[in-house]
Amino acid sequence: MRKRRATLIVIRPPWRRWAAAVALLLLCALLLLPAAGLPIGAPAWWPTPVVVIDPGHGGYDPGVETDSGISEKDITLQISQTLAASLRTRGYTVLLTRTDDRDYALPGQRGRNAKRTDLDARIALAEAHRAVAFISIHCNSSPEATRGGAETFFNPSLTGSKVLAQAIQTELRKIPGMSLREAHDGSAYYLLQHLTMPAVIVEAGYLLIPSDRVKLVNPAYQRQVAEAVAAGLTHFLNSWSGTS
Ligand SMILES: [Zn+2]
Repeated sequence: MRKRRATLIVIRPPWRRWAAAVALLLLCALLLLPAAGLPIGAPAWWPTPVVVIDPGHGGYDPGVETDSGISEKDITLQISQTLAASLRTRGYTVLLTRTDDRDYALPGQRGRNAKRTDLDARIALAEAHRAVAFISIHCNSSPEATRGGAETFFNPSLTGSKVLAQAIQTELRKIPGMSLREAHDGSAYYLLQHLTMPAVIVEAGYLLIPSDRVKLVNPAYQRQVAEAVAAGLTHFLNSWSGTS
């Protein structure tokens, strides 16, 4: 058997300096650009921005429940999974805070403490991945509401939150038959108080209003909401100045 000889490529001094400079520039781009939010349509090898989608509730916490046995946590998961798929086709890296029926409360925790631990885990996921946006999906449950419709909540003190909410609400209002609502101040929500990236809560409809309930369990309506949220987020990320 013939021995194979290892071949060494020797980089001569001038080229070595150039190679080091190019490698350094590439490293800087890779480290800095994800934090700034990357352009849509970047080449396939480029790091893509991370969007976190949060299906509201889960596990011990069903959210709103109807007399007919519908739980908010199931609808939020279905819409979130459709939304995640839509965003991935648009070039985003999407993380879901849950992909099944679970919560992040500690064993034995219930009530306010359980809720806080659960939400803190979802917030930590988004912060650890330096997400460019956080969208929490819910269903509204106001017993006083007399008309339905999807609506988006923002924190006016959180940079980007209101602009993102308005972009999403604009798209939600285009859904045929949608009750027209505006984006609202949701600064009382724990999630919106503690996240540091543009974040919103999308209430996909009113689960206790029969006309909305029929829609919320319908995969066709769930898809319409998901596509509207994806379109609003895409518009936001392509046009946001990063300052308001
Ligand atoms: Zn909810």
